[in-house]
Amino acid sequence: MNPTLLADKSAGTVIPLSAGSDLEFRPAIKNAKDLLAFAKKHRVTMVDYTFVDVPGTLQHTSKPLHELEGVLSGGAGFDGSSIRGFQQIEESDMLLIPDVTSAYLDTFLGEPTLSVLCDVKDPVSTSFYDRSPRTIARRAVEALEKSGIADTAYFGPEAEFFILDNVQYGEGPEGAFYKVDSNEAIWNTGKEETGGNMGYKIRHKEGYFPTSPMDSQQGVRAAMVREMERAGIEIETFHHEVATGGQAEIDMRFDTLITMADKLMRYKYIVRNVAKRFGKTVTFMPKPVFGDNGSGMHVHQSLWLNGKPLFSGSEYAALSPMALHYIAGLLAHAPALCALCNPTTNSYKRLVPGFEAPVNLIYSARNRSAAIRIPMYSTNPKTKRIEFRMPDATCNPYLAFSALLLAGLDGIKRKLDPGAHTDENLYHMEPSRLAKIKHAPGSLNEALDALEKDQAFLTKDGVFSEDFLKGYIEGKRAEAAEEAMRPTPHEFYKYFDA
Ligand code: GLU
Ligand code: MG
Repeated sequence: MNPTLLADKSAGTVIPLSAGSDLEFRPAIKNAKDLLAFAKKHRVTMVDYTFVDVPGTLQHTSKPLHELEGVLSGGAGFDGSSIRGFQQIEESDMLLIPDVTSAYLDTFLGEPTLSVLCDVKDPVSTSFYDRSPRTIARRAVEALEKSGIADTAYFGPEAEFFILDNVQYGEGPEGAFYKVDSNEAIWNTGKEETGGNMGYKIRHKEGYFPTSPMDSQQGVRAAMVREMERAGIEIETFHHEVATGGQAEIDMRFDTLITMADKLMRYKYIVRNVAKRFGKTVTFMPKPVFGDNGSGMHVHQSLWLNGKPLFSGSEYAALSPMALHYIAGLLAHAPALCALCNPTTNSYKRLVPGFEAPVNLIYSARNRSAAIRIPMYSTNPKTKRIEFRMPDATCNPYLAFSALLLAGLDGIKRKLDPGAHTDENLYHMEPSRLAKIKHAPGSLNEALDALEKDQAFLTKDGVFSEDFLKGYIEGKRAEAAEEAMRPTPHEFYKYFDA
């Protein structure tokens, strides 16, 4: 099915099929000259300037193309006081500074539009803005370089999400509800459907990997992948995920910290907008469907120096001693990391036993219930990496990746010991033994408690400021309190007759 046939007129520019790879569609843009040539070649009329707020939502503002040269020399002004987590009203003027290397042709905006990611600067001090997540990520990369331990950290996030056909929710003093629906969900086997119900629905936890017609979403995922590759985001693999109700996963090829955070922001944008073209909608909420797998975002990580991989060696699971110290750093700081990597109240509804989500702070070459898995698919030292399974895609990737790197570096610097590994199924481990293994925080508040106590590893090289973390924790505490004060349908089920 051609998504462009379904698209309404406002769905935007359609890029013709090219003979080569879609990745070639976006040539390397290194400077302003390349950018202007690219804009001319594609008859661009508008430029969209995007950046990321503190919770991790992509923001944008646009100008006609003729303004681009002015923006490249002096930035684009905006009101920082209206952006979540940014400025106070009395100091609201901020500047967007485009990163020209990030430009690509956005096909969702009607007019041919060039999209660029921007850093945020303070026009008075002219320095990178302290609270901009991309500034924090820049400082994390500098801290890595200064450490001398490695010169490059690679990140490979595996975001999972649900592609749904209908979502409704509402709340008020008199009641609250939500409803998610998907044509391929198992709860629709008995539904009257236009043209007849064909009966091909995906049973609970059996979405990995039946073919069409059970998997009805290959076309949507493939269209998402093509759109991403045209934007310069190289994709390695994509598939239906385990849960019923349309769970999916698309995996990008690893990249450096800031570039990967940039790519993830665009990944979410493209996934949502391609779904819309198909008349569908997407959520990255970690647990939108009760009783089946939630959506995580496992983050693969490795350190390199002078083009050589540092995580390969002859310790457990063919890891190097450095990789084991990095693992130890992640495990030691895991509860605090959750506050940044699992930042919603819904995140903790995923981190429960039985759904392939990690609950135990331990590492394993095989076990998917451990917080850290060491993939064993290949023996090539260049592929040696560790997979941190806790995060979910509601995180702000600039903050999450920076925090993960700093935790790992702390483990290396302090030569922390990761303790014993396990290859057992932790979901089936005897309770008395399991009790000895530390586990993930049970709620957002618990994770925030941990971050309050354990933040020196984030602040000591000046990457995160104490002020930033204080504001972040306050904001998240307020979110947790809002959720906690609302009665839920389940409370009526349990307690109405109490
Ligand atoms: N969806 C699972 C999670 O919540 C992960 C499934 C997998 O191993 O890919 O982390
Ligand atoms: Mg997965």
